[in-house]
Amino acid sequence: MTTREPIGVIGTGYVGLVSAAGFAELGHEVWCIDVDAEKVARLRAGEVPIWEPGLGELVERHRGRLHFSTDIADALGHARLLFVAVGTPPTYSGDADLSAVRAVVNAMSPSDRHALVMKSTVPVGTGRHIQRLFKEQGKGEFRYVSCPEFLKEGSAVADFLGPDRVVVGDDGDWAGDAVVGLYAPLGAPLVRTDIASAEMVKLAANAFLATKISFINEIANVCEETGADVLEVARGMGLDERIGPKFLRAGIGFGGSCFPKDVSALKQLAGNSGYHFQLLNSVIEVNELQKRRVIGKLQKHLGGLVGKRIALFGLAFKPNTDDMREASSLVLSARLQADGASVVAFDPVAEDEARRLLPNVDFADTELGAVDGADAVVLVTEWPQFRELDWVEVAARMAGTTVIDGRNALDPEAVRAAGLAYEAVGRAQYTAAGSSSPTRRAPAPVT
Ligand code: NAD
Repeated sequence: MTTREPIGVIGTGYVGLVSAAGFAELGHEVWCIDVDAEKVARLRAGEVPIWEPGLGELVERHRGRLHFSTDIADALGHARLLFVAVGTPPTYSGDADLSAVRAVVNAMSPSDRHALVMKSTVPVGTGRHIQRLFKEQGKGEFRYVSCPEFLKEGSAVADFLGPDRVVVGDDGDWAGDAVVGLYAPLGAPLVRTDIASAEMVKLAANAFLATKISFINEIANVCEETGADVLEVARGMGLDERIGPKFLRAGIGFGGSCFPKDVSALKQLAGNSGYHFQLLNSVIEVNELQKRRVIGKLQKHLGGLVGKRIALFGLAFKPNTDDMREASSLVLSARLQADGASVVAFDPVAEDEARRLLPNVDFADTELGAVDGADAVVLVTEWPQFRELDWVEVAARMAGTTVIDGRNALDPEAVRAAGLAYEAVGRAQYTAAGSSSPTRRAPAPVT
């Protein structure tokens, strides 16, 4: 095990730190570099700055193999493969902001024994562009490999160590061979291809998953209008092996650091290349409207939001993470406040980050603390603990009776048995009795 080669990881966020810990688990010494000196100091002190199941234990177990530094020379001095895992957030136009990637490229010194291995999600063509930059900067011998990352926050450690596939895009030289060798112990199917195709695999995969979510959300909206139950519909669809059951959960829209940004990056990339990616425009629009539909449901139940107190259960963009990037809760709380409501929230792990992003929201220490005096409760993030709540106690503490289950994750009967009005997403039998939306139409007669 100890003969495995040392590697460098640049950027110690969700992807970088998980990858570093994963490679350490495989027996590598890992040199981790970040520009954020405070983060590096915390990591050196044994602290793990992000909340990700299993990550703390893995970092602790391999402290001897994980080295943290702000100086990129430490990685260059010890490793030939430098994995890049810096952020590529969206710009205002929706394009990917590649300034952190560019900073890394510029920080490399000429070398014929090093390779950059791109884990960050970048637009198709970035690899070729970096290779051109290397040439212009007199670093033409520096190798480049695209190795997109598919891990999911919330199960990132397990995903890294047991990937569905490993994609390696390269020019067929030693660097690509070395990256393939690094992943070989994981036994995952390998897609070895050219750099542009590897870059596209990542964007296309995320855009497809986002499309699946927007699709089932639209089906859910039609279910509400026509008397069907989207859970039954998704079950029936998902058993078709051409479709599969995953990503067919209707809700209040996708968020997170990847789907929204990668979908718009692909749309922009297509547009910049002269192709209008019509479908992705709709995927994005449906997602935005889906977040706002909750407001309509609350208005329907409460008759207006001015002066109402709304409790949000969960704030992170999904369970098992503290990541608040592009979380549906951000849009929802802003809309509620703009409509005159006050917002109180509870999230088991995302509160610190949420406090920074939601300055006018009250934070409760417990679920029950959040519902005290609330006119309505909205389930935003389906943390399992919300399912276990004592709804009789919830009802006793609330001022109102409305529960909107934005993720179809609660037990409707338990909520209703407590005397509360339960409404889900796409489940016509769980829209409030007698309070059908103004747009509801009678189904077309069977002829
Ligand atoms: P992140 O924001 O959590 O981490 C990025 C890290 O890079 C930060 O610690 C930042 O300080 C550091 N950094 C920025 N510039 C740097 C530089 N010049 N040198 C060294 N460090 C620098 O981001 P993330 O969520 O880990 O995402 C990283 C990339 O991986 C993105 O392109 C993202 O799209 C992609 N990705 C993310 C996920 C995910 O679930 N988060 C999954 C797959 C792919």
